[in-house]
Amino acid sequence: MAVQTVASSTDSASTPAVDLGPATALSCRECGHRVPLGPVFACEECFGPLEIAYDFSGYDTEELRRRIEAGPANIWRYAPLLPVPADVAGKPNLNPGWTKLVKADNLARELGVTGGLYVKDDSGNPTHSFKDRVVAQALEAARVFGFTTLSCSSTGNLAGAVGAAAARAGFRSCVFIPHDLEQGKVVMAAVYGGELVGIEGNYDDVNRFCSELIGDPAGEGWGFVNVNLRPYYAEGSKTLAYEICEQLGWRLPDQIVVPIASGSQLTKIDKGLQELIKLGLVEDKPYKIFGAQAEGCSPVSTAFKAGHDVVRPQKPNTIAKSLAIGNPADGPYVLDIARRTGGAVEDVTDEQVVDAIRLLARTEGIFAETAGGVTVGVTKKLLETGALDPAKTTVVLNTGDGLKTLDAVAGTGLTATIRPNLDSFREAGLA
Ligand SMILES: *Cc1c(COP(=O)(O)O)cnc(C)c1O
Ligand SMILES: [Zn+2]
Repeated sequence: MAVQTVASSTDSASTPAVDLGPATALSCRECGHRVPLGPVFACEECFGPLEIAYDFSGYDTEELRRRIEAGPANIWRYAPLLPVPADVAGKPNLNPGWTKLVKADNLARELGVTGGLYVKDDSGNPTHSFKDRVVAQALEAARVFGFTTLSCSSTGNLAGAVGAAAARAGFRSCVFIPHDLEQGKVVMAAVYGGELVGIEGNYDDVNRFCSELIGDPAGEGWGFVNVNLRPYYAEGSKTLAYEICEQLGWRLPDQIVVPIASGSQLTKIDKGLQELIKLGLVEDKPYKIFGAQAEGCSPVSTAFKAGHDVVRPQKPNTIAKSLAIGNPADGPYVLDIARRTGGAVEDVTDEQVVDAIRLLARTEGIFAETAGGVTVGVTKKLLETGALDPAKTTVVLNTGDGLKTLDAVAGTGLTATIRPNLDSFREAGLA
């Protein structure tokens, strides 16, 4: 059913045509210049970011819906909408996705939401964060382009996702992180046996270093999932939008609260929703996208509140390390989407992040990492300010697992220590 179209372009004509399913070309988000599918990420005309263009014109809506519903319980059920070869499901990968959409009635009651509140819980992915979705796309692109080493600059979760995916797919991996990450993130990234390099600096320094490495012979044959494979990587976030709508019964939510690091995830959730509307898989209606940051790294919410179109870089200082990107590549696009949909970008303090982690755990039995504390905290704040409508269907993303950021809730522990007898139990006031 997938329409195979070879990218046509006046330049780079020597680049071989590749099979990436319905993906047809790379298109500049700024100027629309198109180039053939390849391991490039910046427009040669204007340096704007490249993204995947598709040909979905051969799809019949009901046939596509049936095919998706009959597909596997992972992201590959949406293969007809992703930049991957048709036979992707048979190749060794971690098969992430199809995580739970939890109806959070207890949390809704606590926050006064009456229109239906859901937590999309991506801690249920193979390496316990949403990053498995994006890495799975980059891995397929890496195979097609003949890379033998997988790499990335990471705020923690991506390093683990790349390490695990490389291990399973038989790639070498060498990933780069700020040297001072949470122990849970470091162990999780190292355990898969690839090389893990700590960089003396913050994420933005790590990212700059990786850009240098790409241009150097030392980085030859390396697929950096979030740099030279970024257009493919980014598409993985669309699966969050697809799953949320399918799990709601092929319905758009009214409001979605999304964490922002580079902003890629938020922009691609919007792209995914737009595609579902265009394909007729959901009924068109307005939806609002809200972005969530930690106050200690809030370049996008600062710009949003000031009414600016440009995002001024910040030096991150927050416990929400997975979101600590001070110079977010997709920041301006996030601002566009929040404004176009009638959403907002908001931030919360580290203390509010911790309170929100505890709130979600106590009400729904979901233990979120700090990024989940950010989205739940921002949801609470936006309900208080009236930016979020409590009468509307609202989806909040939890993108990672609390077991990786235990320090955030340090001090949580035993209620009492007693001797193994009933007197001691009663003395502790627990009877
Ligand atoms: C990477 C990450 C995000 C969002 O990343 P973007 O760069 O904005 O796409 C959100 N939550 C967690 C836990 C992450 O690791
Ligand atoms: Zn351009």
